[in-house]
Formats: sequence, structure tokens, C-alpha cells
Amino acid sequence: MIKRQDKDIKDAGMQTMLAHYGDETFHGAVVPPVFINTLFAFDSYEAFQRSQWQEEAFYYSRIANPTQQIAEKKLAALEKGEAAKLFASGMAAISSTLLHCLSQGDHVICSYPIYNGTYQMLQSYLPKFGITADFVDFRQLEQVRAAIKPNTKMLYCEGFSTFFMDVFDIPAVVEIAKTHNLLTVMDNTCATPATMRPIEWGIDIVIHSASKYLCGHSDVTAGVVISSQERMEGIANSEVVLLGATLAPLEAWLLTRGLKTFGLRMKQHAESARRIAEMLCAHPQVSRVNLPTLKQHEQYALASRQFSDNTGLFSFELHGGPKAVARMMNNLRIFRIGVSWGGFESLIYSPGLGINPEQQTRTKHEARLERTIRISVGLEDVEDLMEDLQFALEHC
Ligand SMILES: *Cc1c(COP(=O)(O)O)cnc(C)c1O
Repeated sequence: MIKRQDKDIKDAGMQTMLAHYGDETFHGAVVPPVFINTLFAFDSYEAFQRSQWQEEAFYYSRIANPTQQIAEKKLAALEKGEAAKLFASGMAAISSTLLHCLSQGDHVICSYPIYNGTYQMLQSYLPKFGITADFVDFRQLEQVRAAIKPNTKMLYCEGFSTFFMDVFDIPAVVEIAKTHNLLTVMDNTCATPATMRPIEWGIDIVIHSASKYLCGHSDVTAGVVISSQERMEGIANSEVVLLGATLAPLEAWLLTRGLKTFGLRMKQHAESARRIAEMLCAHPQVSRVNLPTLKQHEQYALASRQFSDNTGLFSFELHGGPKAVARMMNNLRIFRIGVSWGGFESLIYSPGLGINPEQQTRTKHEARLERTIRISVGLEDVEDLMEDLQFALEHC
């Protein structure tokens, strides 16, 4: 009876599922408690022995905890995957997945540009273990094919490229992977399951930094991996146990609370961001808006096939270059300057801040980074955000 009810809720609409699925109730509490304990004790030798053959047993919170499990059930259902495992950060989820799936001598083809932590991991860290990577612009399918070697094991990608938000043909890349028997991994932090679910497109493993939209309140650092039951059991029994980058119960509880409003937040982020992007498109100081789900963008046809909407994240470029970027950022009063995104608060950042100002010359790519502003549109009233941006643009 309870099981059937749980299944109905799992297949219900996104907000209904997030509100109820996986929640355990105690004394009729509408909010599940936090199991903050590190260990679980047994009444007898036999009870411990029996527990090992039961489907669900808890021993120690590094390995599994009921509060983590509530969030994991919701996240697996959200991505239409069989199972999920939480990690202490997005990077813990990424590194644990790479270490699980790759062995000495393996080769990875990674989309580029990619999140810098992932780039460092593949470019500088994993070579210590004899694992190598090539970085390819996935818009160029021929280059993806050309990069395949006899030891290639994995295609790793993000739905939107870092900073410039370029998209690639997901089914075409999945087809290449299937032809060559390669594992596909997608970091879906940027698009979120509100706009695209990679597993439905044939991707094998989905990763998120839950620190961004999934939590949405800028108060939890967390990561999650979603894949088949079998693969997730493999990761749970090896990397979770041995590397131990587990998410603490209180953080898992906060994540579950954030998820309860995920669908609503994403709708508002999307609507506000679209209005702001359209305003920026028409502004004389703005040379380009990098948001492929916008009609004006050259990748609109492809993007709108793959993503049901935009999120609150995109970037734009200023005619005035880095000086105008600095002036504009200094003139904003509601938007704050910060590296992350996906929270309730509006943020702004320029990838040019990663370039040493003393450096004498710039490549074309660096010059573009310097005139680019990334914007994370929060949940404030959009009229206030538009006024803030308009004022800053007039004074840059
Ligand atoms: C933030 C981010 C990460 C890293 O996540 P943390 O939770 O900060 O470790 C990975 N991938 C993408 C796309 C991100 O934006």
C-alpha cells in the first residue's frame, strides 16, 4: 500500500514529486527529521547479522544515512535515473565518478570550455595515474570523432559551455559514443533537470553541483551523481566508502528543503532572465548576449530542441571592453560580484577577472573573456533588477 503510493508520487509532476516523494514521516511530521547521528546501533548480535541481508540497513553515516537517502531519492527521480548518491561538493561528485569509471591508461574526450575544476582534474591531476584527456569543442562533431583513440573510454561534457553558454548536438554525440562503446558523462549543473534531463537523451551518468540551483539558497555545498542502480552501487561501495567525501546529514536536509521549491524557483529565474536578456539584446552598449535559448542567438534552433527553457544564468559582452565591464560592475547596487551562481540572489562576474591585469598582450579568447559579464539572475523583483542594470549600463 505504502509502496504503491510512493510510486504514484514518483511519477507525478515535478513539484508534487519533490514535495512528497521519498520523505519518511515520523509522528505525522510534514518535515522529515535530521538524522544527525554518525552510527546506527543494534539490539543483538542476530539483529546486526540479519540486517546485512535486508534491502535497507544503516550502519554508519559516511556510507549511508536516512536524511541523505531522502534527498537521493528525490534527485534520482528528478533526473529520471535509477539511483543517486550525494557527495560533499560538486567536485567530490566529479572526482569520485572519474576515479570510479577510469583506470590507468584510459583516455577521456572532454568538451571545452568546461568548468575549471573539471579541467584541472583531467588536465593536471589524473595524468598522475596514467589517465589522459583531450579537450574538444563539441560543436565540431568531426573533431570529437577525430579525437577517439583505441584507449578512449569516456566522453565528458556539460550541456552549456562555461561562460559562453554554447550548446552542442547531444543526440549526435551520444550516437558517436554508442558507436565506439564509450561511456557518456554530463555535468548538468547549468541546465538543471528543470530544462533538460540527460538520461532521457541517452547519457549514462549525470553529475551536479547541488550548491547551485538544486539547493538554490547559497547555504549548502553539495554534489550528486545519478545513474543506473548497478553503477551507483559500484560507486557507493568503492568511492563513497574509500574516499569518504560524504555529505553531512544537516546539509542533506537543507538540500531537501531547497528542492521543495526547485520548480517554482526555476520558473521565476527563467522568466526574469529572459526579460533581462531581451533588454540587454536591445541595449547599444551590449555587443552580444550569450543565451542560445533566445531567438536572436545563432544556436537557437538546436538549443530549443534540447532545452525546454533557459535558467537564470547567461552572459553578455560589452562594446567598451574590460574598462566598461569594470565600470558597469562597480555601478550595480542589487547585483553583487561573486564567482558562484544559482542562488536566490543576483550575481555578476567577469571571466576576465581570471586574467592577470599586468599581462601585456591578450589572445582573441582572452580579449573576449575580458569583455564578457556572466549574470546569475536571482529571485528579486525583475523590475528592480532591470533598473539596476540599466543604470549601470548608462554609466559605463
Ligand atoms: C560549481 C560547479 C561545479 C563544482 O561544484 P562545487 O559544489 O563547487 O564543488 C562543477 N561543475 C559546474 C558546472 C559548476 O558550476
